[in-house]
Amino acid sequence: MKILIMADIHSNITAFEAVLHDAELHGTVDDIWNLGDLVGYGPDPHECIRLLKEICKVCIAGNHDLAAVSKVETSEFNIDAEAAIKWTSQQLSIEDKEYLSSLPLIIEQAEFTLVHGSPRDPIWEYLSSIETARENLPYFRTRYCMVGHRHIPILFQFNESQVGTIQALKDKNIFALGKGRIIFNPGSVGQPRDHNPLASYGIYDTDQQSLALHRVKYDITSVQQRMLVQGLPPALIDRLALGV
Ligand code: ZN
Repeated sequence: MKILIMADIHSNITAFEAVLHDAELHGTVDDIWNLGDLVGYGPDPHECIRLLKEICKVCIAGNHDLAAVSKVETSEFNIDAEAAIKWTSQQLSIEDKEYLSSLPLIIEQAEFTLVHGSPRDPIWEYLSSIETARENLPYFRTRYCMVGHRHIPILFQFNESQVGTIQALKDKNIFALGKGRIIFNPGSVGQPRDHNPLASYGIYDTDQQSLALHRVKYDITSVQQRMLVQGLPPALIDRLALGV
């Protein structure tokens, strides 16, 4: 079975659809897990919610999803993120808001714990260093964990003595799940920040017990045009082409 792993779609329906199409080219997708921040920043919140609701049953909430329905404060957001979340809230239907409000913070699926930020703080914490990742190991009981939030594809691996390595992931990287513990971030579908503007996603192959990272091109200009029409902040428009 192949499971498509997505995170940080951020209201970018063009990148979202490109990922769905590309994932099918690597073999039939049997299931989809989404790691939060479906909305925020981008121009298509309603379209992204409608599509994800239809195709994905395993979805957790991210900080932007919760901010869009006023379940968390936006005081930790920068000024552009806050402006985009305000705009996003205004676009959502009652059903959209009910859906975002209903999303859990943590899901355990097979050998994986799925959270947006970190197991210790599912909403806000960024897993950027090996030290922070190690501190989080006691906070999940499955062997493996998947996170989003940082918009950078990365893999933390720990052996049984909790000696860890950190690895930035590139297109077509594949690694086997072993006895050690793993925290995997598939990068961001809708707003990558590793200086590579291509949409990023993962595939979990349950037969091979492997995780793969993929990147796919999408029509960034069309997304930028829709953002411009909606008056979204210029810095958010520019960053899509830069991958930052
Ligand atoms: Zn995000």
